[in-house]
Amino acid sequence: MRLMGKLFINSKIKALTGLHIGGSTTDAAIGDIDNSVIKTSEGVPYIPGSSLKGKVRSLLEKKEDKNLCDCGKKTCKICVIFGTGANKRTEEAGPTRLIVRDCHLSEETRRKMENREGEFKDLELIYTEGKWENTIDRLTSRADNPRQTERVPQGAEFDCQMVFNLMEMQDIERFYYLILGLELLEDDYLGGSGSRGYGRIEFKDLQIAVKTITDYEGTNEAEVLYEGSLKDFIKSKEQFKQKLLEKLGAE
Ligand SMILES: [Zn+2]
Repeated sequence: MRLMGKLFINSKIKALTGLHIGGSTTDAAIGDIDNSVIKTSEGVPYIPGSSLKGKVRSLLEKKEDKNLCDCGKKTCKICVIFGTGANKRTEEAGPTRLIVRDCHLSEETRRKMENREGEFKDLELIYTEGKWENTIDRLTSRADNPRQTERVPQGAEFDCQMVFNLMEMQDIERFYYLILGLELLEDDYLGGSGSRGYGRIEFKDLQIAVKTITDYEGTNEAEVLYEGSLKDFIKSKEQFKQKLLEKLGAE
C-alpha cells in the first residue's frame, strides 16, 4: 500500500458555549477553582488532538452501535481511519489514516482576551472564566458543595488541523465518513458537562487542501480544493470528489 497523497483539513473550532476539557487535578493552584481546564506550559488553554479524535471516534462508534472497536479489520472504517492497538492492526488495513493536531487558541482570540476586548471584557482569569456549579445531594435533595468549574468562554476560537492520508481510492469514502463524524460532533459536545450545556462547538472557515505524492516529489505546495462552511462542503461532496480524482489521476 503506497501513499497517494494527503488531505489537510484546516478550520477554526469556535466555542458556542463555555468549554471544559479537564486538566490534571494537580495544577489546581488557581484560587478557588478546583476543576481546571487543560493548558499548555504557557498557561493557555488548548484542545488536545487526542481528545478531539477520541470524541469523533466515539460518536461514529455510537452511530454503528459499536463500542471501543479495536478489530483492526480492513472493512472497519473506524479502525482504518482512527487506528488500533499496536498488535491488532491487520496488514491489509494499512497505516492509521487520520492525524489530529493539538488545537491552540487562535491569535485573534488570544489577543482579544489579553486586551479584554469585546465579548471577553469581563473575563475573570486571563483566558478562562469560573462557573459555580451546585452538586445535589441525592438523599436530602439539598444543594451542597458548590464547586467552581473553569471554562474557556463562549466565543473563543481555536486553530484546528487534521491530516488524512490517502492510501487507496476507498479512502475518499472514508474521508467523507470522517466529515460525517465532524457533523455529529457539532450536534453533540466536546469536553465535560455536556448535559449542562457545555462544549457546543462549530467548525468554522473550513479549508481542505490536497498534496499528492507527485507534489511532494516536486516542489508543489498543497492545493486548496475547498473553502467554506462544513454544511456547504457536504452539499458539494461530488464536485470535491471530481477535483480530487483529477489531482490524483494526474500522477
Ligand atoms: Zn474496528
